[in-house]
Amino acid sequence: MPDTIWFDPSLCLIGGDWRASSSGQTLPLSNPSDGSEICRIARGQSPDIDAAVQAARFALNGEWGRMTALERGRILTRLGQLVLEQVEDLAALEAKDVGKPLTQARADAVALARYCEYYGGAADKITGETIPYLDGYTVYTLREPHGVTGHIVPWNYPMQIIGRSVGAALAMGNATVLKPAEEACLTAIAFAHLAIEAGLPPGALNVVPGLGAEAGASLSAHPGIDHISFTGSVATGALVQQAAGRNVIPVTLELGGKSPQLVFEDADLDDALPFLVNAGCQNAGQTCSASSRILVQRGVYEEVKDRMAAAYSKLTVGPAQEDLQVGPLISNRQKQIVEGFLAKGSDLTIAAQGQIVDHAPESGSFVHPTLFSDVPPHHPLAQDEIFGPVQVLIPFETEAEAVEIANGTDYGLVSSIWTRDGARQMRLAKKLRSGQVFINNYGAGGGVELPFGGIAKSGHGREKGFEALYGFSQLKTVAARHG
Ligand code: NAD
Repeated sequence: MPDTIWFDPSLCLIGGDWRASSSGQTLPLSNPSDGSEICRIARGQSPDIDAAVQAARFALNGEWGRMTALERGRILTRLGQLVLEQVEDLAALEAKDVGKPLTQARADAVALARYCEYYGGAADKITGETIPYLDGYTVYTLREPHGVTGHIVPWNYPMQIIGRSVGAALAMGNATVLKPAEEACLTAIAFAHLAIEAGLPPGALNVVPGLGAEAGASLSAHPGIDHISFTGSVATGALVQQAAGRNVIPVTLELGGKSPQLVFEDADLDDALPFLVNAGCQNAGQTCSASSRILVQRGVYEEVKDRMAAAYSKLTVGPAQEDLQVGPLISNRQKQIVEGFLAKGSDLTIAAQGQIVDHAPESGSFVHPTLFSDVPPHHPLAQDEIFGPVQVLIPFETEAEAVEIANGTDYGLVSSIWTRDGARQMRLAKKLRSGQVFINNYGAGGGVELPFGGIAKSGHGREKGFEALYGFSQLKTVAARHG
């Protein structure tokens, strides 16, 4: 795979200039496949966030703010083209930085291009409406950008989350400040280089890498931003919301989940099986919409357990560049978190585990994908987000029991129903408490077009699809009295 970083990764992008952090300090970025240091990145802090917010405000009052929706759309579309041309390089960077097997990293780069194309095409299609009102009045609504939007993204899907969040915000004419995760920010920086090449005016996109407690906290509390979008953990999301609350600005939170798949006795199991396993192990389970709970009706429970166990035994884990089904976790810290959960499951039955290849470096953050069976619905492994390749099988008898178990966690991001019974499909789609429900599939292939977001502790607000454009804009009502 291409192995070069074609830009200086140690710089922030502020107002169109690449510059070192104000303190000159940097942070190491490591390769989770072997623990080696890849390079150093800027340790942005509050003066850098200040400068980035100011640059974004300046852009709104300048060239970027004056652009028509059509012009913004064209830049995003061009950016999508540039991303497509660089798919292999971006995938190689992501594989190295996140530990993502190359095929999965490539899919993320293609999705980033698709977000740019989608929001590029949508930029000039967001309209207001006219409202019938009193005699002598004409009333209409305008969709306007919030202004400066902050984007705090995690390390698990940097390209996809930047695409859906920054892409939609730019389409609506906001000026953005992006704080990538300290564990993985190479593709964020590469994306910013491509954005400049595509013609994005200075200050429309600013990128300040740094620690969450420094650059992240400073961005979320900054009085100069008008909206903040955050994807990550519940604990950090709550902090971001508190900070946004002090400035009375809207916030979009996407905080992960404990998403169930419900398998009924009449399901097409051949069809379901690959989805059941892949939805738990993709990106080594470090996916906000990972399906970590598999609820199976008693009549097919043993068969599903045996077939999933057989699939687990064949899973191989190894360095990202070998492009196996499962790569390393993002860091040794994340490995410890996942191993802590596995230890909590010592009272449970392990149905099967995947294998780590013999030559995997000791210093890589590899864990065995693990399938637990007969897990009580209230067990911590069936309740807490693990963020590793760990799934639990839970048997159920009736539809009502399945719904109660499915809805019985603090989360509500995604759920899926496997059944041939059309009436049950419709009934459960209404009863399941989650932002997305899939019928006889899981994830619908990623779906850039499909609004996505959670309820309860999974967060609030929607990204992806056209809906995101409403989230990244505000509605103004104009009432003209003309007699
Ligand atoms: P995190 O929520 O702390 O980090 C996500 C982003 O928030 C990063 O960019 C980080 O720098 C930033 N951040 C951290 N502290 C901040 C603060 N005080 N103010 C503002 N921004 C801050 O997540 P983590 O520590 O990387 O991972 C811990 C757990 O979070 C994982 O085990 C997983 O369960 C969950 N997680 C969920 C998602 C998701 O997509 N929903 C993504 C990453 C992690």
